[in-house]
Amino acid sequence: MAASTKGWPASLWRETARPRPSFGEAGGSQRADVVIVGGGYTGLSAAQRFVERGLRPLIVEANGIGWAASGRNGGVVSPKFRFAIPDIARRHGLGVARRMAELGHEAVEAVEAAVRRNGIADADLAMTGNLRCAHSSGAFDALKAEARTMREDFGDETIRILDRDEVAEETGSQDFVGGVLVSHAGLIHPLNYALGLAEGVCGRGVGIWEGAPATAIRHDGSEVVVETPVGAIRAKHVLFATNGYSDLTPGTAAIRRSVIPFRSAMVATGPLPEELRARLLRHGRSYSETRRMMRWFRPYRDRLIFGGRGAFGKTDSKAAFDALERAMQRVFPDMEGVPVTHRWSGLVAMTLDAVPQIGRLDDRIAFALGYNGAGIAMASLMGRYAADVTLGDRPDLALLGPRKLPNVPFYSLREPAVRLTAGWYQFLDTIGR
Ligand SMILES: Cc1cc2nc3c(=O)[nH]c(=O)nc-3n(C[C@H](O)[C@H](O)[C@H](O)COP(=O)(O)OP(=O)(O)OC[C@H]3O[C@@H](n4cnc5c(N)ncnc54)[C@H](O)[C@@H]3O)c2cc1C
Repeated sequence: MAASTKGWPASLWRETARPRPSFGEAGGSQRADVVIVGGGYTGLSAAQRFVERGLRPLIVEANGIGWAASGRNGGVVSPKFRFAIPDIARRHGLGVARRMAELGHEAVEAVEAAVRRNGIADADLAMTGNLRCAHSSGAFDALKAEARTMREDFGDETIRILDRDEVAEETGSQDFVGGVLVSHAGLIHPLNYALGLAEGVCGRGVGIWEGAPATAIRHDGSEVVVETPVGAIRAKHVLFATNGYSDLTPGTAAIRRSVIPFRSAMVATGPLPEELRARLLRHGRSYSETRRMMRWFRPYRDRLIFGGRGAFGKTDSKAAFDALERAMQRVFPDMEGVPVTHRWSGLVAMTLDAVPQIGRLDDRIAFALGYNGAGIAMASLMGRYAADVTLGDRPDLALLGPRKLPNVPFYSLREPAVRLTAGWYQFLDTIGR
């Protein structure tokens, strides 16, 4: 069944994407070595790795390739986790922290390698770096301390501290007191990246069923059977790669309580006048803020994209997009009068400890999810490791696993809890703490 256009966001990425490829007929009664549930970066990267290991995987995708976060995100490719590596060193020791830092860079390399291997030129991968912009002097001090530790204790030469004037010159905004530039980072067209990965694995014989939600998964002797409305697949293994969309069907009930879905939203402007293009984000990097309720921005061709927290709950809200546009105006007052042409959002998967998770439910079923909103690079890497973990390997992934699937306590209260926490963070950001 082909992917329908129902529920696709009206994103800039969709408007500028390559024509949608066809992955052939879905359905019937099939056999595969592994069924991968979910056709985002995690599932597609896992498929590539299974093929390298001589197996025949089949991907079932409830909607279409790139329908979810992997086709909607900001396109910021970065080695960063949601926590600072020096904090990990304090809590878990230097060895674990070093491996985590290494995994961050390995993840960016996984994207570079996948783009090269599959010849995804229209992913427009540009390794221009990421600039973290400090919103207060306290935040800048913390950034500088982290940058120095990363250089001195972890030998990270990709980091440079920028003062207030340098950040103003870089961004064209007076809103920041300084920043830290990480050079091993970049920008990508997220949907073309997902479609390019899918075409790559499809060309290597991987079956891709679009419009095929896994509605039930059951063990049958030494095999696992995955049911979808268009057919059933019998396999030796199943890998869950559904991230923030793990509650679409009862088929993923086993993992859905391990993450908290959180809506992230973006707006894109129309083409900027020449004069603004020469001044704003002139080095063509990605830029993020230090606020807890982080906002970030990037150029795309002659436009500016601005992202941050979206609406709470199951759907978008005008109020959340309006708030985002007001924030954009505050950071870039010169943009007054430039129209916003696209607004869209998607779900990311938060975990309680902010660490992505990878592991096995049993010797047949594995999972990889929980990128906490920073998953282009990490899902591209974790998908590959998830394939190894599915087959029983235990790679050294430091805090990422392999580990048991954690359950979010009081899962039914997750929405009010997220609202409360977000409100508190927003308050701290407003008062500059
Ligand atoms: C608005 C937004 C901006 C973001 N910006 C960035 C950024 O700039 N940089 C960055 O690094 N990260 C960013 N992220 C996060 C990043 O996009 C995700 O971490 C990453 O795409 C996760 O990939 P995934 O394959 O694990 O999940 P997804 O891409 O979400 O894919 C999961 C797939 O599973 C499918 N599925 C669910 N249930 C079933 C079922 N039962 N049967 C079959 N299929 C099923 C869904 O249809 C979906 O296609 C952003 C996310 C959003 C939403």
